[in-house]
Parts: sequence; C-alpha cells; structure tokens
Amino acid sequence: PIQTTTNIWHNGSLIPWDKAQIHVMSHVVHYGSSVFEGIRCYAQPNAASIFRLPEHMARLVDSAKIYRMPLPYNVEQLSAAVIDVVEANGVAPCYIRPIAFRGYGELGVNPLKSPVEVYIANYPWGKYVPGTSGADVCVSSWSRLAPNTMPTLAKAGANYMNSQLIRMEAEINGYSEGIGLDTNGYLSEGSGENLFLVRGGVLYTTPLANSVLNGITRSSVLTLAKQLGIEVVEQALPREMLYICDEAFFTGTAAEVTHLRSVDRIMVGDGTMGPITKALHDEFFGIVHGTLPDRHNWLTPVNVK
Ligand code: PMP
Repeated sequence: PIQTTTNIWHNGSLIPWDKAQIHVMSHVVHYGSSVFEGIRCYAQPNAASIFRLPEHMARLVDSAKIYRMPLPYNVEQLSAAVIDVVEANGVAPCYIRPIAFRGYGELGVNPLKSPVEVYIANYPWGKYVPGTSGADVCVSSWSRLAPNTMPTLAKAGANYMNSQLIRMEAEINGYSEGIGLDTNGYLSEGSGENLFLVRGGVLYTTPLANSVLNGITRSSVLTLAKQLGIEVVEQALPREMLYICDEAFFTGTAAEVTHLRSVDRIMVGDGTMGPITKALHDEFFGIVHGTLPDRHNWLTPVNVK
C-alpha cells in the first residue's frame, strides 16, 4: 500500500487524505476519463525541489485539452497548487500525482455533462524499475495504442489499460518490464518509460509519431545529449535494433535513467551500463541530486524540512 500523507489538494483547497473520496458512479470509474501527471520531488543537501514542474503541468493542460476537459486552473495555478500540497505535507523526496477527471454527474459515455474534478496528492516514493544492475525486459505481444484510437500524447488514465497488459505479461514471464511495438511493428516504448538505444556512438530514440508519450525525462535526456555533443537521431526503429545495439535505456519520472541489461534474454552489449548511457545518467542524477548545477533551470525549490 502507498504511504499516506496528511493533505490532498482538491479544487483549490487542502483536504485530509481520508476525505479525498469519489462516488462509485463517477464517470471516470466506468470510462477511464482521467488525465494525470507523475512528478518527482528530489531532496538535495539541505534542500528539496520539484523536477520540471511547469512542463508537467503544461502536459496536464494539454492532456485535458485533447479530451475537451475544461480545467479551471492554468499552468501557474496548478504549479502553485503542487508546491502548496508538497510544503503542507512536508515530505521529500516524494512522488506527486495531480489528476483531473470527470466526476459524479451523468453516467452516459458522453463526458461533457459530468463535472471536472482536480486533485493533487503526494507521497514518499523510491525507485520503480529496481536495481542499478540493469533491467531484463522483453518485447511485448501487446502493441501500443494505434494513433487513430487513443492519443498517446495525452497522459490519460485509460491509456494505462494497455500499459497494464504489457506490464503484467512481462512480470508473469519473469521480466521487469515490457516494450511495446507500435501498430506498424516499430519500437514504441515501455509500459511507463520512453526508450533510447545507442549504436555506433549515435543515440536513437523513438519519435512521438510511434505511439509514445512525450516524456519529460526523454526531452531532458535529449537536451543533455545535445549539450554533451552526442549525435541524436529520432526516427522509427525496427525491433531488431534492440538486439544489435551497444546500449539501451529507459527514461521516465519513475525509471529516471535505467539501463537495459537484456532484451528477450539477449544481452545488450556486455550487460553493464555503457559509456553514453553512463554520461547521460550521471548528468541527470547530478542535476536532480544537486551535485551538478541546474543549468537548464529544471528544479523548482520547495520549502520542506
Ligand atoms: N511513457 C509512458 C507510457 C509513461 O507512462 C511515462 C511516465 N509518465 C513515460 C513514457 C515517461 O514520461 P516522463 O519522463 O514524463 O515521466
């Protein structure tokens, strides 16, 4: 079970954790009509700060817009609300979960008559894909969402039914994560992570057109790679690139930068974290842990003792 905190932000005020409840007949329960975010608040020596808060809130606003869900708050107000709840709960490091959904109103499929509710919760949280020895992953038999079915640029709750299928299949077969292909058979992403490969010193990642979420860690790693002078290519990638690449890694708020040790039991390189992954990994962790300067202004300080 998740560790609780004291407060949850709801439509503009802080309410007790146990009072943040919805009715079973709420639209979202039946039709998956939610959009949400996952954000990390890191602890640095004598400080705490939230990673790329405005970018996460902008993506929430985008997700809501795609689903015609009017949000009564803008990016600045949502960012301020996140800071409020994190400071009120006084827990860092933590994971922050803002969510907007269609609440209790009508029960027809049409969501437009159900009220939009916004909640922001946070709780203490550690590593997701476990271990620094690398992840053993598989290619899933499930495809990612086809582009003309469920829009993957929206971080919508319903998209995670697909992620759940990928993740369960992987776990039941003894892998820590699954990689979905898009409906054309090209590499897409993990159930909750973007995918990067390295071959011949070039960094490859799957483009947004291949049914991926526009990951904020992905965009951060692309920025770091350019700054480190690494050649970056965003293009459709065939599955077998996973088997012949020198390095592979996942990025995500939860996964951070996690290298892949094997894919479908085929070793990636020699199974250890390769030099380009390591350079990006060290830059990323240096910035979020405060041992390197926050040169891209990615951290929003919060007052958590
Ligand atoms: N893809 C999917 C499907 C995800 O759920 C996530 C996690 N939000 C990511 C990629 C990584 O995105 P981010 O770096 O913004 O967490």
